[in-house]
Amino acid sequence: MTSNGHDHADGPDMNAQVQGGTQASEAGQEQRYVDVRLFTGEQIYMPIWEGRTSAPLEVQLGCSWHRCKFCDFANDERYVFSLPEIAAKAQMLIPYAQDKHRVFLLGENPLSLPMDMLRQIFEIIAYFMPWVDEIAMYARFDDVLAKTEEELEELADAGLREVHIGLESGAQEILDFMCKGIKIDDALEACRRLHKLDIDFSFTMIAGLGGTELTHLHAPGSIAFLNAAQPKRIWVTGLLLWPNTPLFKIAQEGGFHQLTFHQRLIETRNMVAGLELDDCEFVDSTVLGDCTVRGHFPEQKAEVLAAMNQLLEKPGYDHVPPIPIPGMTERG
Ligand code: SF4
Repeated sequence: MTSNGHDHADGPDMNAQVQGGTQASEAGQEQRYVDVRLFTGEQIYMPIWEGRTSAPLEVQLGCSWHRCKFCDFANDERYVFSLPEIAAKAQMLIPYAQDKHRVFLLGENPLSLPMDMLRQIFEIIAYFMPWVDEIAMYARFDDVLAKTEEELEELADAGLREVHIGLESGAQEILDFMCKGIKIDDALEACRRLHKLDIDFSFTMIAGLGGTELTHLHAPGSIAFLNAAQPKRIWVTGLLLWPNTPLFKIAQEGGFHQLTFHQRLIETRNMVAGLELDDCEFVDSTVLGDCTVRGHFPEQKAEVLAAMNQLLEKPGYDHVPPIPIPGMTERG
């Protein structure tokens, strides 16, 4: 996932603690519940598409990669909750999942978890919320490739319906500069495997990620990648230059210059103009810092482009986005 590419939702008041007691699961293990909170932080981060439709089950904190230069999550220590903790969270989630048929596994890339653990997490969900028939989560491309096709098929059969991946940009040079740890050919191979198994995949993209130095590469690279990959959904957010990141230091030293709001929109408009997508929901939730443009492609592509061109006429957006204050400014 991406630190710029996540929605946040204030957790419902579900943080009562579960203490003591045991519960025998279908998996055959006895779960002993100790102090567990449903959500660790005050906010939870989910893709914009999942926020209102899925029950969020926290399984992991931090990310297995944590090297992306722009990412404020990269500083977070990785922690994987134990199966008893996850079972306790699942039990606490029941009242809030009654009207949901989908669970979203919270954490920066739960698909990186070992297969045995994922199996048991899926069993926990089936035990406590048997009406749930879809599971979604964040993933990296290399998490997909690290699973065999048989393992992915097993997860799909057990309910894995969608993975949300932080693509950020389809330009290899930008990904390399940001230390994203993705090679375009590998990413396309991951998409091919997901398509083959009918596991939907969605991308977050970050407008302005290349700065003034590499912006010219973003639209051409992203057009080529997205048209080849054919994702189900694309969510564009704008770069936030978090002060606690390597990118911020690079910018301070003059090696990176942010795009203005106007330049970011030009970059995204140019990308959209070249997209040839068969069936894709598109949303840019940070247009000029205060607008959202969305549409379904291909039939609403012309409307999305027209809206972006119209917004480009608005005066007063020739400044770079402000530096966010960690803990005080909403992310994403
Ligand atoms: S993969 Fe990169 S952007 Fe996503 S959470 Fe990890 S460090 Fe952050």
